[in-house]
Amino acid sequence: MADWADLGAELDAWRADGRIATLWWRDDDATRETPALAHLLNLSQRHEVPVALAVIPRDADATLAPLLAGCRQVFALQHGFAHANHAPEGVRQEEYGPHRPRAAMLAELARGWLRIADLPRALPVLVAPWNRMDPDLVAYLPEAGLHAVSTLGPRPSRDPAPGVRCVNVHVDIMDWHGSGGFIGDATALDQVLDHLRARRAGAVDADEPTGLMTHHGFHDDGCWGFIDRFLDVTRNHRAVRWLGSDIAFWPDNLMPGRTAEAVG
Ligand SMILES: [Zn+2]
Repeated sequence: MADWADLGAELDAWRADGRIATLWWRDDDATRETPALAHLLNLSQRHEVPVALAVIPRDADATLAPLLAGCRQVFALQHGFAHANHAPEGVRQEEYGPHRPRAAMLAELARGWLRIADLPRALPVLVAPWNRMDPDLVAYLPEAGLHAVSTLGPRPSRDPAPGVRCVNVHVDIMDWHGSGGFIGDATALDQVLDHLRARRAGAVDADEPTGLMTHHGFHDDGCWGFIDRFLDVTRNHRAVRWLGSDIAFWPDNLMPGRTAEAVG
């Protein structure tokens, strides 16, 4: 079981190799301004670490735009449409699994993107609800105006389809099947270290930034404390660079359909 000293040692190893450990942060299920979301954005600002909010388009209300406008380095991604399950009973929950006609799913995604595209720093990225979707749908996402996808686990490919990027998350701090709260420092750090070590060893795509996934609406004190400490430790290590989502997905600046001005 990993501890904070192990994280420091791993980052020191990156530094010794002359490499930069890139990280990014995705927080899911945003719909409106709440005390928890304000707390999350405050942590992002205080540590000067960018965060990407995965916004549920159907439920997004008018409080989000002014909130995001006031926070530099906060991006908006599309979290499905309604976070609704369309899988039959007994099958793992999915909003965009192989359960509905492709045209219906793409039309729904396009509606969702139109609802959030004008949010400050909105990026055409589909964060799949429950971190899974029909892999056959990915190639069609540009028809809905979307040009990237994000789920959980090391990405198989940076470009899963022409014009579609992939950057996943790798660290889930929630104990969904147990307490419903924080999973604990050791388990959270194990996930961080698994991905960083695999990148350094070349066992996974080393160019994929290690992604922290959070869920502001479910955090207990343990979650908040971990995030605060993780941002503090990594922000102050010379081997680490926290990436904004625009750079995480399009390090080559080749985001389709958006100008640099519109993103900035
Ligand atoms: Zn979600």
